Amino acid sequence: MTDKKIVSEDTMTALHQRNPFLWINPDRAKSGEPGKLWHDRVIGKSDIHKTYKRFVRFSNVLKTLFPELEGTDGFIDSALLPADTLQSALGLAKNNGSLFIKADHSLPVAGSIKARGGIHEVLEFAERIALENNLITVDTPDDITNPDSRKLLSKYKVSVGSTGNLGLSIGIIASALGFEATVHMSADAKEWKKQRLRDRGVNVVEHDGDYAAAVAAGRTAAEKDPFCHFVDDESSFSLFAGYSAAALRLKEQLDEKSITINKDNPLFVYIPCGVGGAPGGIAFGLAHTFGSNVHCFFAEPTASACFMVAMMDRSGTNPSVYDVGLDNRTEADGLAVPKASECAVNVMRPTLSGIFTVEDDTLFRHVHTAAVTEEIRIEPSAAAAFDGPRWLTKTPVGEGYLRRHDLQQHMVNATHIIWTTGGLFVPEVEYQRFLTRGSKIKS
Ligand SMILES: *Cc1c(COP(=O)(O)O)cnc(C)c1O
Repeated sequence: MTDKKIVSEDTMTALHQRNPFLWINPDRAKSGEPGKLWHDRVIGKSDIHKTYKRFVRFSNVLKTLFPELEGTDGFIDSALLPADTLQSALGLAKNNGSLFIKADHSLPVAGSIKARGGIHEVLEFAERIALENNLITVDTPDDITNPDSRKLLSKYKVSVGSTGNLGLSIGIIASALGFEATVHMSADAKEWKKQRLRDRGVNVVEHDGDYAAAVAAGRTAAEKDPFCHFVDDESSFSLFAGYSAAALRLKEQLDEKSITINKDNPLFVYIPCGVGGAPGGIAFGLAHTFGSNVHCFFAEPTASACFMVAMMDRSGTNPSVYDVGLDNRTEADGLAVPKASECAVNVMRPTLSGIFTVEDDTLFRHVHTAAVTEEIRIEPSAAAAFDGPRWLTKTPVGEGYLRRHDLQQHMVNATHIIWTTGGLFVPEVEYQRFLTRGSKIKS
């Protein structure tokens, strides 16, 4: 499936043998500009601003529906936390820059990064219906919570296929707005996620197969129903755009800390990746905000490296991890995805810096490290990116990247951001099991 000139024999061996490694994207353009097509739709910077404005427009509505958003004034966002203790624990030397955590593990409403994309897509759908039926105007979005609007929205259904976190996000916002919500879940979805949704009146349909099978089942069921909107994790641009708005907030947070990003002050961002929508959307937003001075790396479980497999492919067939002999068995349920979003892959091809893989044991070790160093509570999927700084600064492949991009002399001024993507709602008993397992694993 691969061109040997692009992917070395060693790389393929490491992939097959499930050895963690860092892969550098040979197609990153000098400008770092992301792809401009999503299917046949032209996308760009204006989409990020449009999305951001939708979040602002609906911030009152969100505050009304979710009182926990009072603190962020109705905006779905997380803190940017300095992480000095974690930085020393991970062995990132100060002369290689400063480490921060982007704390999406504590994103309100959905408890994971999926709050960004999921809430945006459902808001966009609700806004369209309410506008078409003259229940709101562009200037009176708050009317969407009026009884008349809710009555209309209750005639519509929103459905989604999910390993868990996307389902939580879509189910919670859709039912809060008055939609009938259905979440198709794969067999590996956690029981507490299903229960949390059922408690909110969301229909949960369980499927025996993997994540892709749950998505396919949900898509087919929705196609037959004109009143049903299906949130398609693999090809929805609204979802992708929802994630991209994070970049504009991150820029503000960096400004507040007087951190400038430019050629002499590079930004490195490490994000866990499943289908690639969440990290892709964020990387798209960051590339349009910081240009070639931001370097994004995705992190995937060794068994589910679907984005890496798709990026390496030259055949245009968008292969899955099964096609290269991997089994997609990982305890990182947020990342247990066999096939990447082809749209996200195409947008990322000219901009993504690289991808590294991580073993399950390492995820648990980092869940524990996060707790003892920075007192943050994350789920295993959210720990996937912790080895990013090490791959970049302490391995020949990473050093090669820094050298080729002329970054070595600027590393002392570098900002590194590890994106922690979920954890807030993990039940205590389950979280304690993660910690116990993590505490026993040696690095
Ligand atoms: C979904 C998810 C991701 C990755 O998002 P994709 O859009 O699937 O790439 C990362 N971390 C957590 C906790 C998630 O739930």
